[in-house]
Amino acid sequence: MGDGGSDTGEDPMLDSLICVAGSSIKRSGFIASHSSDERERRVIFVNAGGEELRRQGHSEIEVETDRFFQGGDVLRTDEEVADGGDLPSIYQSARCGNFCYEFRDLPPGDYSVDLHFAEIVYTNGPRGMRVFNVFIQDEKAVSELDVYSIVGANRALQVMNIPVSAGKDGVVSVNFQGVVGSPTVSGICIKQGAPELQLVSSGRDGKSLLCDNCFAPVKLTAAENKAARMSFTAKYEREIRELKAQCQMKQDECYEAWMSLTAANQELEKVRAELDVKFFQNFTLGQAMEKETEKMAKISSKYEHDRRLWVAAIDELERKMKAIKSEHSQLSFEAHQCANSIPGLNQMVTAVQSLVGQYDDLKMKFNEEQERRKKLYNQLLESKGCTGNIRVFCRCRPLNMEEASSRPQTVVEFTDAKDGDLGVLMNGSNKKIYKFDRVYTPKDDQCDVFEDASPVATSVLDGYNVCIFAYGQTGTGKTFTMEGTEQNRGVNYRTLELLFKIAEDRKKTISYDISVSVLEVYNEQVRDLLASSPPAKRLEIKQVSEGVNHVPGVVDMKVENVDEVWNILQTGSNARAVGSNNVNGHSSRSHCMICTVVRAKNLVTGECTRSKLWLVDLAGSERLAKTDVQGERLKEAQSINKSLSALGDVISALATKSSHIPYRNSKLTHLLQDSLGGDSKTLMFVQISPSEHDLGETVSSLNFATRVRGVELGPAKKQSDTTEIQKLKLMLPFCLCQLKCKDDTIRKLEENVQVLEGKTKSKEQFSKSQQDKIIDLENQVELKAELCGHLEKRLSHVYEKMQRKEEACYSFQQKVISFIILATFQRS
Ligand code: ADP
Ligand code: MG
Repeated sequence: MGDGGSDTGEDPMLDSLICVAGSSIKRSGFIASHSSDERERRVIFVNAGGEELRRQGHSEIEVETDRFFQGGDVLRTDEEVADGGDLPSIYQSARCGNFCYEFRDLPPGDYSVDLHFAEIVYTNGPRGMRVFNVFIQDEKAVSELDVYSIVGANRALQVMNIPVSAGKDGVVSVNFQGVVGSPTVSGICIKQGAPELQLVSSGRDGKSLLCDNCFAPVKLTAAENKAARMSFTAKYEREIRELKAQCQMKQDECYEAWMSLTAANQELEKVRAELDVKFFQNFTLGQAMEKETEKMAKISSKYEHDRRLWVAAIDELERKMKAIKSEHSQLSFEAHQCANSIPGLNQMVTAVQSLVGQYDDLKMKFNEEQERRKKLYNQLLESKGCTGNIRVFCRCRPLNMEEASSRPQTVVEFTDAKDGDLGVLMNGSNKKIYKFDRVYTPKDDQCDVFEDASPVATSVLDGYNVCIFAYGQTGTGKTFTMEGTEQNRGVNYRTLELLFKIAEDRKKTISYDISVSVLEVYNEQVRDLLASSPPAKRLEIKQVSEGVNHVPGVVDMKVENVDEVWNILQTGSNARAVGSNNVNGHSSRSHCMICTVVRAKNLVTGECTRSKLWLVDLAGSERLAKTDVQGERLKEAQSINKSLSALGDVISALATKSSHIPYRNSKLTHLLQDSLGGDSKTLMFVQISPSEHDLGETVSSLNFATRVRGVELGPAKKQSDTTEIQKLKLMLPFCLCQLKCKDDTIRKLEENVQVLEGKTKSKEQFSKSQQDKIIDLENQVELKAELCGHLEKRLSHVYEKMQRKEEACYSFQQKVISFIILATFQRS
């Protein structure tokens, strides 16, 4: 406070509170002047918050009751106010709060205003400090005045001579505004005329002070100079403090701005990072989208392809279904027909049953007759020294050109040939009768021969092992009978031809696999005539199971039709000739053996059989004595002799039911083991020459054949009867079987239809599920596209946001720069 403690006079230190030139603060109350001038200058003096006051005498004072105010409250105190001057009581009342004074109807001109204050409320110190600004005519006249801090409590204080001008409206307004607490005022005095001259600084030097009105240099005392300097210094110090505070404020603002800028930058960075992430996400999403789209396209095309396939498959199935249905209806029709024919069949069955009865009677009679005949026959055979029931057909060739031209004597007689009797003229007139199952004259052709041989041959299809061989002297027609010529085919070809025909006829009930191999036995060696190259090692006969022999490594050609048969037979026949200088000679000295293996499967019963048919063209049976017995020929002849003897021995052993059958004595019998004996069927063609010249060999052959014919080859089954009963009897199981077969086929077809319907249904379901999948995938694609659009929107939104942030950042930067510039400018 400095001089603020003095009770009298003006205090230059307090001048800083004064904002206008000429006014001053006084630390005491109102002192009336004795001069009349002074008295006359007072226009209005109001006792704020108090009553009218009058003092008579030489210093007459008139103080009006409180009026001209707007707003505020009244304060009063009974405490005595120190330094109250001539009117201490005006300081005991005050107007307080939010208020102002407005003095009207003043003549236009200059006035001075005195303001009277005293702290009468907060007398105990700073708690109730009233710091306030006073505006006169809207201009700040006093700044942040705190009465207590200057004079303390219950002491008078004056702010004097505040210049003011009243305009044409004649109004002077005094406005009090609180800075801390509410302003109070105890009295206001308006005086006419401008305040007295005041001194203000115009430089550091106290000597250069100028009058504010006329700017004439004013001479000041040293004390005045010091006071003025101190006042200026204090004022500037205050200003500097204010500026410092402002600067601090600006710095704070700057700091705040900087912080907010940093925060904005950080946010911006974040947004950028986010943007980058979004951008990357968008990019990857785009890539993924592209891939997905590609995948979708692929999947779509695949599904389209699959769908087409399925549609085609379904069409195909439908077509098949239709075909099956039509077949089914056809079969149903046939089944109905079959069913319709059942009554007829029943009749037939009864007829058959009656016939069977008749047949049984007949059979009995027949058997009796047979037995009788057999006895007779056996007696006959015994009388002729022959036993057994092997079928032996005797065939005599015609005279050849040479024989015919030399008018030879024929030694054979065919008078009873139809009964199987053959007469041979021995030594001219002595005739010997040979009995065979058939006797063919030279006039009988291949058809006649085959007609009788075919039942035996074709029984291979019924599961029998069959052996047909031609025996006889060279040149008697063994090869002719078995092989024949291209125009006049023999038993081999005809048999196989018939096998295929029967197989074809039976194909609905039995399926056959027919394969053929062609072997040659020469000098006790087995040779494969179908092999394209000679085998690495010698072919050997192996027993694969009980009574079944096999030659491992032999070509076993499967034949599908009769054309292939002829080719195979020709291949075998041609191969037989290879390696021989004398074709006919070689073929006569080797056994040609065609082995036909038949594998049958009964489609009704599922029964499978495997049977063999041997067709053998034996080597010539002529005796050694007649042949050239030197070297190789001797070996050949011995081999032939051995094998034919072995054949005779085997047959003889079979005839005598010997415990040991010497099959292994020759390759020929070893190979034929499973088709000779047991329940196999054997047919022998004994070939003879009619020529007298060959009589010896003919007799020899006929004796051999007679011996063979006497052999019992086991329980040979009877061949088919030609009677009607037999035919019907045979037909009945076949018809039943066919019926069963048809029923089975219908049932199978129905099952097939059901299966196909099921399949079609499942395929349709699958197709539907595929279509659903496609729709699902299309939806997914749409969703992805939507998502992509959404993300693009978000991206643009983020872009905009980023732009806005950048703009905000830029404006922050600008603001900061301007603040810095302003602060720098103010400091300088
Ligand atoms: P083998 O094979 O027994 O040695 P072949 O079959 O070669 O005898 O017959 C010799 C010749 O006699 C051949 O020219 C053949 O055509 C002829 N031949 C044999 N049998 C008959 C026959 N029944 N009818 C006509 N010619 C025959
Ligand atoms: Mg021959």
